[in-house]
Amino acid sequence: MILPDAILGVLGGGQLGRMFTVAARSMGYRVWALDPDPHSPAGSIADRHIEAPYSDEAALTEMSAHCAAVTTEFENVPAETLEYLEVRVPVRPGSAPVAIARDRIREKTFLRELGLATAPFFPIRTLDDLTSACAQLRMPALLKTAQLGYDGKGQIAVSSLEDARRGFQQLGATACVLEERVALQLELSVILARNSSGQTEVFPVGENVHVNGILDTTFVPARIAQPVARQAVQMAQRLADAMDYCGVLAVEFFLTVDGDLLINEMAPRPHNSGHYSIDACLTSQFEQQVRTLCDLPPGATTLLSPVVMVNILGDLWGDSPPPWEKLFEQPQAKLHLYGKRHARPGRKMGHYNCLAADLDDAIAIAELVRAALTPKAG
Ligand code: AMP
Repeated sequence: MILPDAILGVLGGGQLGRMFTVAARSMGYRVWALDPDPHSPAGSIADRHIEAPYSDEAALTEMSAHCAAVTTEFENVPAETLEYLEVRVPVRPGSAPVAIARDRIREKTFLRELGLATAPFFPIRTLDDLTSACAQLRMPALLKTAQLGYDGKGQIAVSSLEDARRGFQQLGATACVLEERVALQLELSVILARNSSGQTEVFPVGENVHVNGILDTTFVPARIAQPVARQAVQMAQRLADAMDYCGVLAVEFFLTVDGDLLINEMAPRPHNSGHYSIDACLTSQFEQQVRTLCDLPPGATTLLSPVVMVNILGDLWGDSPPPWEKLFEQPQAKLHLYGKRHARPGRKMGHYNCLAADLDDAIAIAELVRAALTPKAG
């Protein structure tokens, strides 16, 4: 076990790295964050901000010499970075699961081979692949880049072969998946923490609403039947076991109008849809990241209260920041800001959690806060 006050390393210093840093430091660990951005949200509160590219060998060598273990806040850290580090220091999750999660073709193929349902899809590397996929897949469909897509970026809706060909060129003729657009009843996520001995704790299922491809709201507990929740948890657990996963794993699901549960994608890290756990669970997803990184048993994930999490995007900034005082008037609303200097439309600036004895009451508080923070038209 790695105990306080060891130094923990985190690759990536965005909001996820920042919330990891808060959890680790409050538990008595020290944190070094590697991020090239001089204004990195995690870098500004870490014990040390290593301001260097992820491929900087000298920085990685120094990190591995001083850190007891290293984790990552995002899957797009270069594969070579994780591989370089993991022969020198424990890296959790390791390069193998991160490589699967980073690439939609590998990810969906892995899921299919495990017998875990996904939306029907075809890997696309050439125009010929596209022609044959369009002949077999029900339209409409989505063409998604295999790598570097997030928050609905790198995706194009297509309804014919002509559309798909145009879309493929628009996406740079890079490796993609073509995926059937399924009729959704709900979107769900399951987040779990698994340590290197396989000890696992699963968070309550979250019900997610996306707006323009970006997560907007998470409701917990999800308003679904118990067997659906159980099935989602079992699927996430199978996936984690199959990868012998160590760390926090997020699995996003589609519940179709026909009642089928499909895995959309996974993230090898804490997830936006798990931010509710900071205020509403006995252990937050970031404490779990610390615990699994340090070989401690994962903490209890007991839900202490129904909760609604709402993302705060840069869209709420006009000439001045949103009127936070209105949020603070609600005693059951908890504000989390990430310390980003510049607000831009679509940029995740923070979130708030609203807790109440009843989910409907938490929703009512969240809507009051949303209305108060939203700039008035005109
Ligand atoms: P992704 O980046 O793949 O998570 O997609 C972002 C959002 O687009 C999802 O959360 C869904 O709301 C929607 N979406 C993505 N893929 C599909 C699909 N195959 N069918 C229906 N909706 C989808």
